[in-house]
Amino acid sequence: MSHLNITYRGRFAPSPTGPLHFGSLVAALASFLDARKNKGEWLVRIEDIDPLREVPGASSNILRTLEHHQLFWDEPIRYQSSRSSAYESLIEKLRVGGFTYYCPCSRKTLIANNGSHSPECNPDTPSPSTSFAIRFHTQDHLYSWSDLLLGQQSFLTTKQADEFVIKRKEGFYAYQLAVVCDDIDQRITHIVRGSDLLDSTPSQLALYDALDIPPPQFAHIPVISNSEGQKLSKQNRAPSISNALASQNLQQALAALKQPLPETLINAPANEIMAWAIENWSLDQVPKRHSIQGR
Ligand code: GLU
Repeated sequence: MSHLNITYRGRFAPSPTGPLHFGSLVAALASFLDARKNKGEWLVRIEDIDPLREVPGASSNILRTLEHHQLFWDEPIRYQSSRSSAYESLIEKLRVGGFTYYCPCSRKTLIANNGSHSPECNPDTPSPSTSFAIRFHTQDHLYSWSDLLLGQQSFLTTKQADEFVIKRKEGFYAYQLAVVCDDIDQRITHIVRGSDLLDSTPSQLALYDALDIPPPQFAHIPVISNSEGQKLSKQNRAPSISNALASQNLQQALAALKQPLPETLINAPANEIMAWAIENWSLDQVPKRHSIQGR
């Protein structure tokens, strides 16, 4: 595919904290189908920036599951663990622009002090005697975007509550920083992801603003919840996807996304289901809800 004509680059960006569950398969499938339907490219990025939460073998397990479900990516996998120098350069750029400060406060003390920082918090120099995080100076601002699925979204950020961490005390890079850095670097134009990340979007928009780079388009699809109404997640032990049941898994994921499969394809092989799904994908049919009950 020629890069010159690409107007759509999407991605799936799992954190390797465990195998894929049904909810993450639905998110991967939606971002893949939206990219393919729009003749775009689809990338996979492993967001392995938190060694404390990483589960050994999870990355390769996730990639194998994607392949079994016919979710084939276009470029070599990117691993965020190999991107430290890019994240450092971005932090430096933000620091020079006056968007960061060094913060030794723990989450606990901030909550106890209603979000007020200690006098040791310093915009310019970290205190040599204490460990510190680097935070982003959030402004009181109304961030709005036109979500491709949910329509107009607006979130008010406030200085006190939303000064998010971009580099953690332990020295790890934070999700908001890494995700924006890589979405920019990989020239991502469309982000289709679960609505559990809706409230991260304003922080990410604040970073794009600070860097004076136009943000990609967003579509936040419903997360899948269990019968108790909890979002399927690795934390609440959502069962992992069985590769042996790829065809059934895809049928259930398409049903959750309200893409009704013709009867002739029920129980067809995964590749036939996917050929139909690419051709017939319609983002408009996806439920405009934050959560739907899955299996
Ligand atoms: N790595 C994030 C997660 O697994 C997703 C990042 C994103 O799609 O922006 O929740």
